Amino acid sequence: MKNALRISLLLIALLFLLAWRFAPARQASDEPEPSGEVRRPDAAVPDHTRTLRVLHGGAVEEMAMDEYLLGVLRAEMPASFELEALKAQAVAARTYTLHKMAQGAIARHPDADACDDITCCKAYETAEDAAAGWGAGALYYEEKLARAVAETDGEVIVYDGEPVLAVFFSSAAGHTQGAGEVWQTDLPYLQSVDSPEDDSLVPNYYSVVTFTAQEFRDRFLAVYPAAKLNGDAGGFLTDITRNDAGFVSTLRVGGVTVRGNELRTILGLRSPSFTVEVSGDTLTFHVTGYGHGVGMSQYGANAMAKEGYSCEEILEHYFTDAQVVQWAG
Ligand SMILES: [Zn+2]
Repeated sequence: MKNALRISLLLIALLFLLAWRFAPARQASDEPEPSGEVRRPDAAVPDHTRTLRVLHGGAVEEMAMDEYLLGVLRAEMPASFELEALKAQAVAARTYTLHKMAQGAIARHPDADACDDITCCKAYETAEDAAAGWGAGALYYEEKLARAVAETDGEVIVYDGEPVLAVFFSSAAGHTQGAGEVWQTDLPYLQSVDSPEDDSLVPNYYSVVTFTAQEFRDRFLAVYPAAKLNGDAGGFLTDITRNDAGFVSTLRVGGVTVRGNELRTILGLRSPSFTVEVSGDTLTFHVTGYGHGVGMSQYGANAMAKEGYSCEEILEHYFTDAQVVQWAG
């Protein structure tokens, strides 16, 4: 009996010893962090705490960033796209908006931080309008887009610590093009990169537009009245130069030098990636992809998401040397 008691006491003592020996060490996170050395996730500004003034349907509405981004997602990317592509789109739209806000008041609407005109800001669509288009899938798509915004709450693409000009477009012919090749300013994070979409993934990837010589003349002279567009249509377009990404960089039209993207706008072509064929009095443009080709390709992002790339990997592919961070600015 005494022996049994002794053994029990010994076992209890052993258990205490084991418990003390294998107690978890104090976690490093219990220590107070030196201020300024560790970027804590809670330093980011959550979307629901950022209020934007949005010019929508002719009136300025105040709304939180997450509500605005949901409206942009509904309008800017097919809701059927992969979740990681939708998340990349949400981060790009958040970044674009913060970039614009950091530049100061927008001349076209100094009383609003963003508008719903795609030639100025981003498209925006209400839940009701989107639901009408989605039909039976409305609830599913609305929840999916809300998830894309919520799962990237506060995430921003930065270069040198500042939100980038996070432009995007629909699809391109295998490569994006650099900002300096389309607009006046080159930006280090908007360079030409590979983009994986092709005609098997993109509807209307190839398009054809035909003009008579007179139609072409009317459109071009409306913008450049000094151009000399007389005689044979075969001589209208000369000195076409292309960049490595296959887009038309510059060309001469009736003696006037224009960028490929500008001619695209004048003629209403889907992209500045085109070839032209002249036959008698007819000019035929064969166009690949849709959009200016700078920044993130939406169909490319969807193709990357299908291959298993994350939202962050997609964005860091399209925005050269930029990082996706929880931004505290
Ligand atoms: Zn605007």
